[in-house]
Amino acid sequence: MIGGAFMGNTVTGERTTNPVGQVVPEVHAKNEINPAVLRRADELFERPGGNTLHEVTEAYQGALISQLNRVSAGVGSETNPIYKAAHSAATEQSGEIRSRYLDRMGFPTPGMLPGVIQGAEFYAVDAQGRERPIMRIMQ
Ligand SMILES: [Zn+2]
Repeated sequence: MIGGAFMGNTVTGERTTNPVGQVVPEVHAKNEINPAVLRRADELFERPGGNTLHEVTEAYQGALISQLNRVSAGVGSETNPIYKAAHSAATEQSGEIRSRYLDRMGFPTPGMLPGVIQGAEFYAVDAQGRERPIMRIMQ
């Protein structure tokens, strides 16, 4: 996971009462975040809390879709329509976080090379197109 991830939701089969008193299908939504990475990205983009708010509202929007359709959602991917709709409906991210794999010397690898990868780094690209480091993890 880079900074945050849509981990899907489950329509439980139970019913619950929403804040305006309607009885509706109960949905449990899950998003995961790496708070250290999101905080650093938010600092770079000068939008404190922005990426965490995106993840929370993305889980909520996904749950609303699943509640309406009574269909649980899987983890986020480009082929998951509930995820894509939830991502679009959520509050805007403070900025994009990218990542790349590193070899044992700490140099970027051209892709996912099992046995070669010894770490990863996360970075953001600022408005001027410069890469701004967020975090580096080595085994
Ligand atoms: Zn998203």
